[in-house]
Parts: sequence; C-alpha cells; structure tokens
Amino acid sequence: MAKISLTSDKEKIYDENEMQPVSEVKTTCTYCGVGCGLIAGVKGNTITSMKGDPDAPANKGDICVKGRFGYEFVNDSKRLTIPLIKHNGKFVEVTWKEALEHIAKKLAKYKGDKFGFIASSKCKNEDNYIFQKFDRVVMGTNNVYNCARLCHSPTVAGLAQSFGSGAMTNSINEILNVKTIFAIGTNTTSAHPVIALRMIKAVREGAKLIVANPKKIDLSRFATIFLQHKPGTDVALLMGMMKVIVGENLADMTFIKERCENFDVFEKSLEPFTLDFVEETTNVPREKLVEAARVYATNKPSSIFYAMGITQHTHGTDNVLATANLAMLTGNVGKPSAGVNPLRGHNNVQGICDIGGLPNVYPGYQKVDDPEMQKKFEKAWNCSLPSSKGLTLMEMWGDILDGNMKAMYLVGENPLLSDANANHVEKAIKKLEFFVVQDIFMTETAKLADVVLPATTFAEKDGTFTNTERRVQRVRKAIETVGNSIADWEIVCRLAKKLDAKGFDFKNPSEIMDEIASVTPSYGGISYKRIEKVGLQWPCLDAKHPGTMYLHKDKFARGKGKFVPLKYKPSAELPDKEFPLILTTDRSLYHFHTGTMTRKSRRLNALMKEELLKINPKDAKALGIKDGDKVKVSSRRGEVTVKVNITDTVPIGVVSMTFHFFESPTNVLTNDALDPVAKIPETKVCAVKVKKI
Ligand code: SF4
Repeated sequence: MAKISLTSDKEKIYDENEMQPVSEVKTTCTYCGVGCGLIAGVKGNTITSMKGDPDAPANKGDICVKGRFGYEFVNDSKRLTIPLIKHNGKFVEVTWKEALEHIAKKLAKYKGDKFGFIASSKCKNEDNYIFQKFDRVVMGTNNVYNCARLCHSPTVAGLAQSFGSGAMTNSINEILNVKTIFAIGTNTTSAHPVIALRMIKAVREGAKLIVANPKKIDLSRFATIFLQHKPGTDVALLMGMMKVIVGENLADMTFIKERCENFDVFEKSLEPFTLDFVEETTNVPREKLVEAARVYATNKPSSIFYAMGITQHTHGTDNVLATANLAMLTGNVGKPSAGVNPLRGHNNVQGICDIGGLPNVYPGYQKVDDPEMQKKFEKAWNCSLPSSKGLTLMEMWGDILDGNMKAMYLVGENPLLSDANANHVEKAIKKLEFFVVQDIFMTETAKLADVVLPATTFAEKDGTFTNTERRVQRVRKAIETVGNSIADWEIVCRLAKKLDAKGFDFKNPSEIMDEIASVTPSYGGISYKRIEKVGLQWPCLDAKHPGTMYLHKDKFARGKGKFVPLKYKPSAELPDKEFPLILTTDRSLYHFHTGTMTRKSRRLNALMKEELLKINPKDAKALGIKDGDKVKVSSRRGEVTVKVNITDTVPIGVVSMTFHFFESPTNVLTNDALDPVAKIPETKVCAVKVKKI
C-alpha cells in the first residue's frame, strides 16, 4: 500500500487511503480576512483535506497554503478537552458544572468596571455577540475589546472621520478592474495571499501597480513603481504625492466641490511637503514620487490597499486619514474599483467590530454614550446598561496595574505573544485576582489563568464570519466536538444562566444571528436562509436588500467626505547610538498570528520552522554576523535570541521579525507608545541593537 511521508521519518507516516475524505462540507477559512470559501474533506471525526470552493465569491476556488494545510490543528492531540481549575499552582480537571459554578461565584464579586472581557476575532459573529452581551448585560460594563485595537483601530477612527464608515470600500473581485493599484503598508502575498493573486492578475491584464513599503516585498516584483520609504514616514510620502497632484492640476475639483468639505484647510496643510522635504524624510527619490502621484491621479479607477504597515504607528490614524485624503482628492471613491481598502488581518476582525466587540459602541457601531441607543438596547435586552464607554485593550492592562480592574475573561487570544511590550502585559495579567481563559490550546497566556475552558474550533460549530469586504459568510460544522469541549457561545450562555441572567436561551447560532439582525441595522437583512449559498455584504438593511458591493456611492456615510489637514510626525522611538537599528514586524505566508494553530501543522512547519531576523548584508558585515548565526536582539523593553537571515529585502538600518514563534517572542521588544486617537501601539517601529552570541 502506498505511503507518503509528510516531513521526516520521526513523524507519523500516513497511509494515502486514510487521507481520502468520505464526505465534504462547505465552510469558510479560519485564517485571514480574505474569507476564502473552503470545502472540508471529512472521514470519521477527522478533517482529512481542504480545498478551495469554486462557488465562493471571495476566492473562486483559489486558496493559499494556510487554507490548504493549516487545518491540522483541529485534529491535534494537544487540544484542550476538559475544563481546568488551578489549585496551588497546578491545573486540575473538573466537570463543566464545577467550572461554571466556580466562575459564576467568583465573577459575582467583580461586576461593573472591575471586570473586562477580551473577545476573539477568531470566533464567529454569534460567539462574539454573546460575549459582548454577557459583558454589558450580566457584568454591567462596557469593558469589552478584541485584537482590532492592535490592527485596524486607526482605520475605524480615520475612515469614520473622513467617510463615516471604517470598512473596506470595495469588493475583492473589483480588483480585476482597477487601473492603478496602490498597495501601501501591506505585505499582501504573505498576509492576504488570495487578494495578492487578484492584484497580480490585474497587473498581468494591464493595471499599474504602485507598491510603497520599507521592505522589498514579493509584490514589489510586479510593481510599475516601487517606493521604498523609511518606516514611519507614510504621511510625508502621501502628502508629498498630494502636493504634486494639486500643483499639477490633477485633482478632481468637480468631485471635491460636489462631494467633499474642508478642502481649503487641507490644501494649506500641504505647504510644508515640498519635494526636498519629502525626499529627505522618506528616502524616496523625487522623480519616483512625482511619477507615482501622476499615475495614481490619472490612470483611473485607482484603489488604495493597506494593512498594518499603515495602522501600527503612533500616527496610524493620520496615515489612514492621508489615504482617505488622497482618494477624495482624485475622485477615487464611491465608484466601482475605486476606493480605500483596509485589508483585515483575522478571519472575523471585521465581524467582531460590527457586532459590538468594542467598548464605545453596541452592535452596528451604535454609540454606548448616546442615550437613545442605550434605551434601544435596554429595551431589546430587557436590562439596564452602563452609559459610559469602556476601556480599550491597552487601557485595560494599565487599569489592572493601577489596581482597578481585578477580573478578566479572555477568549481565543494570546496577548503574551501578540501585544506590544509583552512583559508589561504579563505583569498586568499576573496582578489579576481572577482570570478565565477560554481557548482550544493551552497557550502561553492560558497558563496564567485561574480557570481554563475548552472551546471548539471553527470546524466543530455553525456560525458566520464577516470577511474584509464586509461579506457575512457561513461557517459550517464539519465534525463533532472534540472531547468535552463546548462551542464558545454556548459556554458563555450557560455561564450567564448560572448568574441568573435572562436573554441567553438560544438553541442554535441561527437564532443568535436573528437577534443580531434585529438590533444591527447594517445586518438587518441577514439570516442563515439568505446566506446559505453565498454570503451577503453589509449594509444589507432588510430581507429584500441585495447587500452592498461598494460604499459611498452617491454620498458618503457621513454626508460629505471630509478632508483632514495633516502634519508629519516622526515615530516615537528613533534609532540612536545605543539602539542603532529600526525593528519592524512582518508576517509570514506560512504562519498566522502567534502560531497557536499553524504551528500544529507539520506541513506548514516544514515550510517555516523558526523565527529569523532579517538583516541587510551591509549591517550584518558591520556587526560581524554570518547567515544562520544566533544573535541577541535588544530594545529598551527586553531582549530575544534569534537566528539571522541576511537579505537585501530589508534596507540598511532596518531589521525585521515576525511574531509567530514563542521561542523568540518579538513583542517583548516592540514599543507600546500609543496613537493618541486610536490607542494602537507602535509595533511597526522601535529602536534595537543586534549582537552576535
Ligand atoms: Fe485562508 Fe486567507 Fe489563505 Fe484564503 S488567503 S485560504 S482566507 S489564509
């Protein structure tokens, strides 16, 4: 019988026949925000294969290596299967009844702002709706957050200010008709691979591609113009382009007059961005900048795509505002294939924000401090609600250290590896009086919990994810739950009932979606029946509404598009004598987030098994470092040991690391200085030194 060895002979060798599925289930990928439709192959209670669903609108059958092989974590033997309570520093297995009664008894003491809930952008909309409802209705606080604070909070703050809505303006399939793609601060082939495929196809069919990135990323091979700017200088780059556009009369003055406001004030703010200043600040030759400005402004429709290279800065909101200014200046918004497109990182980070996993808004971005909205939700949920905004994620850590917040419930996140200045996060978690973690594996963060609850994966429960193009899509149960684990929404509903709460008697996720639709105007027309075959893009206002392909068609969500004047602000921590290099963080195609799931895949591990510090050959030579050497990387906040990869994909003076590997926890180095508006930490720029060991 034929055998295939997947990695080395130390690992399990599978029988080819064992890999053949006997049934197939359509679902949605659990990794990035592209939201590829997948077909899961199932045999017994095991996922045996994954392939792309040709009928899925976001990917039309294409998938990346994470979608194809990343499912192996579902069947991993290290899955949590039994609730655990810590006694004298050791976890002891308990029944669900014991675990939930213990948690209920403890949490009853921490109602109000002594409590915080960290929800999960990995979980489904239905799970997260229950989490935020529990936090508000049962615990009486708006302290609920998710990892969006660490990725796209500047998008929400910036685009809401300019356009009135912080979501991707266009759809993935519109990329094929874009004439100029402007990809800034996105390593698209690694982080959103199927979107990168669409971009490359568009380029092959004649579109122009402008890539702006401090690193020579894969996409820059296809670029018409590659702008390799210094990390943290995006505002200077974008304002420089806009000054050229205005100076050469390439602005769309009809669009500006009819659809926008505040142009005059904005125009004045362009004055300091002379070509001399921009070239000096960004390191981009002026000829390239001028060429990029002309191409973007004239070869329409043009569309901007960005990700964390734009947002994870102390001036992340300004960066986002600059992209919105550029789109409005050239009339490239509110039209097919023209817009501003923030690429969402996690599978359901769009959905968790939509359904109220934020401290300042209820589902549908309805403000918690608006008395009308408060009344609406008090009526819908039959309760009284707190009227003040809750704390953001980074504020929660500070609040714990200040001795105010004392108990926390965290689902499906691993802040010990994912958050900036991770040592600070660890200190805060250790100060909590009571800490519950609900997850599928014993993560670095879960080890610090008082109670750990075993949840189910995306393959074991029904629900929906909302992808980066605002499409609400079905995720389907493919296998039975593993061990004694329970679906996330059901765990929290059971806990709510232990705390005598009403309104948590859902029989299935479809009923939860019906409640979401009843309180969330943009999801008003979404039901499981309507999205059985193809997902719908919000706004989808009622049962007859067809969903919305692109936003701001005849008017912006806020009425008129608002130009915002901007100034250039340098990053919070620049290199100096002691820490002479800039560290910027990146993503790998082969792993996801803190590696909790992808590192359970033998095939993904075979493709990338360890962290590598990328360093330019000139810097490596100056430091006496050879390829593969081990080095110590230190910042003002911590140090890590890591192997070196010498490559000219990073410029002189810049080094880069991912944060997928707990053995080299990059985020002990990163800076937690915050954007004053969006409160996002500056994980894209910090000063480090590198020493051979
Ligand atoms: Fe999954 Fe994203 Fe890859 Fe699609 S592109 S298969 S959604 S990780």
